[in-house]
Amino acid sequence: MKIREFLRQYLIQGLVTGIIGALGWSLAAIVKEVSSPLLIYVVPSISKLALLWLCLILFLICILLSVWVGFLTYGDKWKRIKKQYHFDTRGFYVHQKSGAFVCGNCFTKSVESPLALQGLSDHGQYIDVWRCQINECKDIWPATGDEVKKHDLA
Ligand SMILES: [Zn+2]
Repeated sequence: MKIREFLRQYLIQGLVTGIIGALGWSLAAIVKEVSSPLLIYVVPSISKLALLWLCLILFLICILLSVWVGFLTYGDKWKRIKKQYHFDTRGFYVHQKSGAFVCGNCFTKSVESPLALQGLSDHGQYIDVWRCQINECKDIWPATGDEVKKHDLA
């Protein structure tokens, strides 16, 4: 039973491979038949200077496409991050999906610094604040009672 399943699986794989190979061979023969008159009659009639210009134009197009792909991949990163946040009137930014807070001071310097809820003792009075986690900044914003409850539940 197991040998039959094993053979069946290999036969199907072999058949699929053979069909794909036959299609590829046919396609290669068609491309060769179509392109051979072009290579024999058209390409030699184009001057070497024109071919050189064509190669140069293709080279420039490749460079432009590479720069464009690089810009799409790396250049727009901060802009995409910035779109995910909205400004809170207290002075920091809030992530639109997760609701996480990031420091407004660091955000203007293109740094995504999350705020952490901490207790602060000020002249014997205890208050909860959102504090930036970057050492050079340490900016704080007062936390509301709802935010403290929500943070304690999570
Ligand atoms: Zn900060």
